[in-house]
Amino acid sequence: MSWEQFKNCADCRKLFMKTYYDICPACIKVEEDNYAKIREFLRSLGRKSTVDEIVENTGVAKKYVVRMMDSGRLLSDFAIEYSCAMCGTLISAGRLCSKCTGQVNEQVRKMEEESAAGPRGPQVHVKTAVK
Ligand SMILES: [Zn+2]
Ligand SMILES: [Zn+2]
Repeated sequence: MSWEQFKNCADCRKLFMKTYYDICPACIKVEEDNYAKIREFLRSLGRKSTVDEIVENTGVAKKYVVRMMDSGRLLSDFAIEYSCAMCGTLISAGRLCSKCTGQVNEQVRKMEEESAAGPRGPQVHVKTAVK
């Protein structure tokens, strides 16, 4: 047995035998229990819910709820609403609402245009160097 066979659990920091997961078997059990609680709650609710509502009603820590959503596990099964990272509007997919996504895309497009249009931009030097 070598140390390379072990890693620290991302949740409780305990050493455990390396598996496909980042967390130890004990924490996987906790996560499964949390998932079951959330699933039960959403099923009985019968409508869209929010992360805060889930936390309040199931007692599951927000970080677990968010992580399950990040892994796509909760979103694929249930409609859950959460705040847009920029304006706080409730959304149920992605990181930003459609309005903020549009704004971000617009900004990126402008930045690309500006860098392409700049006569003293690095592209000019590259072009002359290649010729
Ligand atoms: Zn653990
Ligand atoms: Zn937004």
